Amino acid sequence: MNPSSPDPVDVPHSEDLSYQAIATVLNSLDALVYVSDMDTYDLIFFNDYGKQFWGKVGQKKCWQVLQKDQDGPCAFCTNPQLVDAEGSPTGPVVWEFQNTANNRWYQCRDQAIRWIDGRLVRMEIATDITDRKEMEQALQEAKTRAETLADTDELTGLNNRRAFFNLSNQVISQARRSGEPVAVIMFDLDHFKQVNDRWGHAAGDTVLRGLAATARRTVRESDIVARLGGEEFAILLPATDLPKARYLAQRLQQAFGNQIFPVTGGKVRCTASFGIAASSGREFTLDDLLRQADKALFRAKEAGRDRVDSRS
Ligand code: GH3
Ligand code: MG
Ligand code: MG
Repeated sequence: MNPSSPDPVDVPHSEDLSYQAIATVLNSLDALVYVSDMDTYDLIFFNDYGKQFWGKVGQKKCWQVLQKDQDGPCAFCTNPQLVDAEGSPTGPVVWEFQNTANNRWYQCRDQAIRWIDGRLVRMEIATDITDRKEMEQALQEAKTRAETLADTDELTGLNNRRAFFNLSNQVISQARRSGEPVAVIMFDLDHFKQVNDRWGHAAGDTVLRGLAATARRTVRESDIVARLGGEEFAILLPATDLPKARYLAQRLQQAFGNQIFPVTGGKVRCTASFGIAASSGREFTLDDLLRQADKALFRAKEAGRDRVDSRS
């Protein structure tokens, strides 16, 4: 600031000693402090800290100086909260806000007070909390990333075993209340060891990823598809009875059989065997369904693989 040309906001009180005393204190603070008329929004004090960031204030209104693209009082102005129905000052209002002019975060402490000339004014003390906000945001993002990783199978991007049990148990407790059926499809890739042995582990991974993607694409958004481990998968189907689950498993069986993966040195196809189970009545658990589906899957393997078994 050029001391030879005072900011007009300072002029009206410049001869007033009590004003000078207040201004000296408020100018020494490491936070924005401003005072504006509650009725006209005219800025009547703006401290040095504020001028560093928002420049000279002149004879302007708070909404013209402090925020971007305002053509009237801000929609989020706290003035109405600072006085009671009789117009007397109430307690301070403390809130956090990202300033629209400089995009920095502030904790604002707003209060209606009587100014030295007797009029009712709004005083705001705004402390820059951008560093804290950025740290909070980074922590939140890291937490979300960690939660996603903890629930996701790295190779296929499907739910992992842990997420499958968590999500499925939620669906099942709801289905038990509503009485809607729930079905489970379990499938295991056929002779997958031979794929690895013949074409290599990387080719095996390609097949796992490809078939997982086909499964995800084939079912509804609300169905829970998971890799339980190795080359074994499960799908929990809310609001689905046995015939519908069988139909879906048959479609998957067909889609897998038609999918050919080009890998180094040749082409791979890999079928799967499917076991399905569906709830009857309200008294069932996820364990019941998985046990039944696993038995059915075992029978599908025994009967020659590349097939669906749904006997309970
Ligand atoms: P079956 O038809 O009876 O299921 O025979 P299979 O060969 O598929 O079953 P087995 O349990 O003998 O072999 C499973 C193979 O899956 C062995 C294991 O190395 C392989 N496997 C498990 N996880 C992965 C993986 O993440 N990547 C690859 N490439 N292979 C995996
Ligand atoms: Mg297998
Ligand atoms: Mg297996």
